[in-house]
Amino acid sequence: MTHVPHGRHLVAGEWIATAETFENAPAHGPAHRFSVGSVELVDRACEAAEAAFDAYAATSRAERADFLDRIATEIEARGADITAIGTAETGLPAARLDGERGRTCGQLRLFATHIRKGDYLDRRHDPAQPDRAPLPRPDLRMIQRPVGPVAVFGASNFPLAFSTAGGDTAAALAAGCPVVVKGHSAHPGTSEIVAEAIAAAIAACDMPAGVFSQIQGGNRAVGAALVQHPRIKAVGFTGSLAGGRALFDLCAARPEPIPFFGELGSVNPMFLLPGAMSARAEEIGRGWAGSLAMGAGQFCTNPGICVVIEGPDADRFAEAARAALSETGPQVMLTDGIADAYRSGAARVAGAAGVQDLLSQMCDRREARPFLFRVTAQDWLADHALSEEVFGPLGLIVTVRDADEMLAVAHSLKGQLTATLHLDPGDRALGQRLLPVLERRAGRVLANGFPTGVEVCDAMVHGGPYPASTNFGATSVGTLSIRRFLRPVCYQNIPADLLPEDLA
Ligand code: NAP
Repeated sequence: MTHVPHGRHLVAGEWIATAETFENAPAHGPAHRFSVGSVELVDRACEAAEAAFDAYAATSRAERADFLDRIATEIEARGADITAIGTAETGLPAARLDGERGRTCGQLRLFATHIRKGDYLDRRHDPAQPDRAPLPRPDLRMIQRPVGPVAVFGASNFPLAFSTAGGDTAAALAAGCPVVVKGHSAHPGTSEIVAEAIAAAIAACDMPAGVFSQIQGGNRAVGAALVQHPRIKAVGFTGSLAGGRALFDLCAARPEPIPFFGELGSVNPMFLLPGAMSARAEEIGRGWAGSLAMGAGQFCTNPGICVVIEGPDADRFAEAARAALSETGPQVMLTDGIADAYRSGAARVAGAAGVQDLLSQMCDRREARPFLFRVTAQDWLADHALSEEVFGPLGLIVTVRDADEMLAVAHSLKGQLTATLHLDPGDRALGQRLLPVLERRAGRVLANGFPTGVEVCDAMVHGGPYPASTNFGATSVGTLSIRRFLRPVCYQNIPADLLPEDLA
């Protein structure tokens, strides 16, 4: 590894150390010390972001697109260092870090292409009708404008794609908004190198320095101060329900409330319909096990619950899943805290009334092994805690007596990032009953697949009703996510030479 972390914050082009430090807790290799963030630095970063706003919002789409492309190039130039420290800090394998870097750079370039095209501006024009009776109509033009400085919180499980230069940062910068990142305390070294890449792109593209800052964590007051800072006009957050809700509440309680776009947890239920089960119960069971255990189950789209009609097909499915999961070796989890929460979550499910243990395995300190449980819909419906996310490779099979009880389970669901149907042509009637119920509860509904793996594209929705997200009108993945950091402005009878360049 050539990069040795210096542990400083980046505030408007300046690398700043603070007296107090915290240590990262890598899964392997030496620990490093990082400056703890402070409320005073948050203030400096937010003021610098506001100072940069007018100039940055006035840049052309082509200039911002070049800037995003340059960030991607600068990240690629540091690829080996990013993977080295990223694997150490998170315990994720090198291939995963390399792949996630590709996704992160692809995301930045997708936004560059998207803003070059300009469709996202949703330009509208109602020409003046001076002779209209009884009242003339004025000339009305509408366009989307950037909202102002944006605060970004990444998640521990995507140290690149949902972190310093992840989807939220890419969308905000594409929109024309300066960004202040609260660095995740689980991977501060990774965040530091990515911040260096952004700083290099700012210099190369001659952007205002305040367009990007990153304050490292180690102090929860940093996040609270950031979302409450009067210069911040929107927040992009990916992480836990508890953390997201706490910060959302702070945003709502501000004298000037601001939108908080929190992408939170989900159990991503799968509904296995009888025709599909009769044809391929084992295949679905093995596929589910693979999706469930991938990356130690540390995906927000991890399908934690399967709903299936009881009987021999359900038994074949459960046995295939159990056999596949029992062959999955131990995997390192992202942090000690996440490993502890996984074990206590598994114990909570195991101890709930009516829960049958199909697979329980010992987990060492920071390791996860899969757990598999089975429960009847009656018991599941009686215990709300069973519908909550356990972050890790834990599967719960919910058996229903018939199609009506399957519908009852679907109706009882809270908001989800995804919901999945496994169905064959003979399942059409039940599919038709389930789809309208699931589409009200999930941001993405899929058939005959597994929800892990979120394509970054135009049609993607990664969001959903609460508690999957705090804003059901938004997505945090894909080009539509830029809308979170824009607001429509209508220009009535404004002279052409005063209009924003994109409207003139
Ligand atoms: P997390 O613990 O909520 O942390 C996310 C960020 O919020 C960190 O920077 C954290 O600061 C900060 N934070 C949390 N609580 C806070 C509070 N009360 N006050 C101030 N700051 C606070 O989440 P995580 O462990 O990184 O991520 C795992 C969770 O995220 C899982 O539940 C997973 O399902 C979910 N997730 C969702 C998506 C999605 O797209 N919906 C994607 C990935 C993950 P510190 O650095 O101090 O901890």
